[in-house]
Amino acid sequence: MVPIHAPIVDENEASDTGALLEMLISKTPLGFAFVDRDLRIVRLNEVLATVNGSTVRDQLGQLVADVIPDLWPQVEPLYRHVLDSGEPVLDVKITGPSSLDTSKTHHWLASYYPISRAGVVVGIGTVTVDITDRIEAEQQHERILSITDGSGDAIFSSTELSIVTNWNPSAEALFGFSADEIIGESVERLAPAEGATEYSLLWGHLSSGGLPERLETTRRRKDGSLVDVLMTVSPVRDHAGALAGLSFIAHDITQEREAERDRRAAEERFEISFQQAGIGAALVGLDGVPTRVNHAVCDLLARPKEQLIGRRWTDYNHPDEIPLWQVLQAKLVSGVDSFSDERRYLRPNGSTVWASVHIRTVRNSSGVPEYYFMQLLDITDTKRMEVELAHRALHDTLTGLPNRALLTDRLTHGLERSRRLGSRLGVMFLDIDDFKDVNDTLGHSCGDELLRIVARRVQGAIRPGDSVARFGGDEFVVVCDEISVPELDEIASRILVVIREPIQIEDNEIHITASIGLIISDDEATAERLLQDSDLAMYRAKQHGRDKRELYDKTLRANAELRLVTTAALRLGLERNEFTVYYQPVVDLVTGSMVSAEALVRWEHPNGILVNPDEFIPLAEQTGMIIPIGAWVLEQACQHLIEWQEMMPSMSIAVNLSVRQVLDQDITKRVEEVLLRTGVSGSDLSLELTESLLMEDVHSCARTLVSLKALGIRLVIDDFGMGYSSLSYLKKFPFDAVKVDRSFVDGLGIEDHDTALVAAIVAMAAALDLEVTAEGVETRDQQVLLQGLHCPRAQGYYLAKPMPFVDMSRLVRSSHHWQVD
Ligand code: C2E
Ligand code: CA
Ligand code: CA
Repeated sequence: MVPIHAPIVDENEASDTGALLEMLISKTPLGFAFVDRDLRIVRLNEVLATVNGSTVRDQLGQLVADVIPDLWPQVEPLYRHVLDSGEPVLDVKITGPSSLDTSKTHHWLASYYPISRAGVVVGIGTVTVDITDRIEAEQQHERILSITDGSGDAIFSSTELSIVTNWNPSAEALFGFSADEIIGESVERLAPAEGATEYSLLWGHLSSGGLPERLETTRRRKDGSLVDVLMTVSPVRDHAGALAGLSFIAHDITQEREAERDRRAAEERFEISFQQAGIGAALVGLDGVPTRVNHAVCDLLARPKEQLIGRRWTDYNHPDEIPLWQVLQAKLVSGVDSFSDERRYLRPNGSTVWASVHIRTVRNSSGVPEYYFMQLLDITDTKRMEVELAHRALHDTLTGLPNRALLTDRLTHGLERSRRLGSRLGVMFLDIDDFKDVNDTLGHSCGDELLRIVARRVQGAIRPGDSVARFGGDEFVVVCDEISVPELDEIASRILVVIREPIQIEDNEIHITASIGLIISDDEATAERLLQDSDLAMYRAKQHGRDKRELYDKTLRANAELRLVTTAALRLGLERNEFTVYYQPVVDLVTGSMVSAEALVRWEHPNGILVNPDEFIPLAEQTGMIIPIGAWVLEQACQHLIEWQEMMPSMSIAVNLSVRQVLDQDITKRVEEVLLRTGVSGSDLSLELTESLLMEDVHSCARTLVSLKALGIRLVIDDFGMGYSSLSYLKKFPFDAVKVDRSFVDGLGIEDHDTALVAAIVAMAAALDLEVTAEGVETRDQQVLLQGLHCPRAQGYYLAKPMPFVDMSRLVRSSHHWQVD
């Protein structure tokens, strides 16, 4: 520190020392000046003149106020004070601009001394020293202190001998030592172990010009515990640039370290589970490029890591799949964060691997997507099984051909295609003729083999694009795209030819044929319709003698439809009691009295129309509905007969029986039950059967008739004369009566031939002891002629039309007689 207190100088005593003083003043860094009572500069040294901004000569005689106008307001009161009081003013801080250096504010320390002569103050002597550097240093130090003290980091410094010189509050908080305790002590007290050489190493490093060190290290606290710190060690240099000490900034990183350790552990755990997981795992960037994959992914795709990381897997994508990347994009856009899919990938050997893929978008804490986490599980085996099962579900196990389900599907698609192309689709329905016989005589395994052979032969006969399916049993269906009727027919005939070729199974040479129904699609065609209609055509082919092909035409469908509709209607009609029985009297031509009545069924539609049996009986027979209907008619007739017999005990009843009913195994039992239930005696019931029936199945019919006969029932041949050949059967079957067909009665008296025939039938019946009834008597002439031919009974519109029960009852009650003479 420069001493600025100069001795008070008295001019009288100074004469000897004047020169010496002069020299001293000119050499000192202090500014000196003498000012008179008018505050004019009397003398000043060069230092001060320079500071004031010009030469000594220029300033001599000048007013101080003019020389330093900026500072004048600060110094004037000081001058005045000295002049007025005669007292010095010492060490006053003056602050302001300096003419010498305008870059910053300067600070001076000034002292003002009164100069007295003979007890009178004649002037003032001033001593000024520039303290700008010192003030700045102090300010900087204060700033630094305020920074270091306020810092959350421990800041301290040490000398070359490792003596601590500074210690901020955070250092105290971190290490436990107060500033008082540690300043002056060795910084090595913070070393984690005794005899640490760390400090000298650092010193050596920094003194040889090394850059500040930043190290993660462990320090020991006052209480002996250890603390992890991040420490920056910087050199503190003196003016000459020599290393004077070290400064330390230490930051507690215990928590960071722990967090880091936890993170590492978690990462390691993740790494282990990621890498060793049995399921494939991959991290995929938002750009669809995988950044990491595990072993299982490599195994699944049969490719090394290097091939899978850093590029999209489009190359391995199965051509039928939309690339996953595109799907991901769409999902992300629509805000979906996770989705699962089953996808195919290609392995290098060209094989396909199925993977169940699950993808989740991983977002950062602010919700922004960062990457995808993708899991892949090899499900190839499961898929293969699914495919296998699907194949099995759609194929016939015996022949390997598509089954009905797949056929229907293909047909539907084929129809759509043909509609688009404006072409026609052909369908063939093939049924092996008498396949049941093969099965029955040669066994099922032989039948199976036969079906396999037929399947192969059909496949061999169709065009390359056509397909054949097994529809069921011994039925096959061929579907031909874009085909015309002649082409379809040509293929069908080819199939018939190959099927006809002898088949060798084990030791048997089998000859089979097939019937084929053909159809070509039209605009209204549906798969179902095509199958039904080709089936109908196939039936027609069977009816036409088998080993044939038949093209569908609309009449087939009309019949089939009618049949379907009627079946449903008949069943409904029976449930709703829409059937009713009419009765037509049978008159004894000798006495004119009624001996019997024929039960004739009617169908009363809800719309009021009365349907005659000719319109629905054939259909009821075809569909089997005749069995319940016939049973109902029989029951009704018997119940009614019981009522009539109360008024007319000799009354009997005739009921018609159709072929189907007679072939029904249970017919005898059913009839017997009705008789028992109603109390009608068998001899009062006639069952009318048509001649044609007898020719159908002689043996089983004969058996049934015998058993019916055993119930005491009378059996009648209806419509007699229509089939001549049956005459021979008359003796074989236990018949009781015949009904001469209406067509003969029609010709009576007109056609000689008919008259002769009726006469012959009546004579023959009498000879065979059969009762005879003539049907369809419409005129009096016919009745008279019949009487002339000694026909005992007659029935016809002329006598009475079929009538409802109530009318018939009235007729019975009135004991009506017909005129017979
Ligand atoms: P069918 O057994 O030959 O019955 C006589 C048919 O001739 C009856 O017709 C009757 O109304 C009709 N008919 C009677 N007199 C005359 C006549 O003077 N002139 C003409 N043109 N026709 C006459 P329907 O009632 O229409 O029955 C037709 C056929 O339906 C019957 O022929 C019979 O085969 C069958 N049928 C009627 N009811 C039943 C039944 O309950 N079961 C069975 N299986 N078949 C029945
Ligand atoms: Ca009849
Ligand atoms: Ca008849």
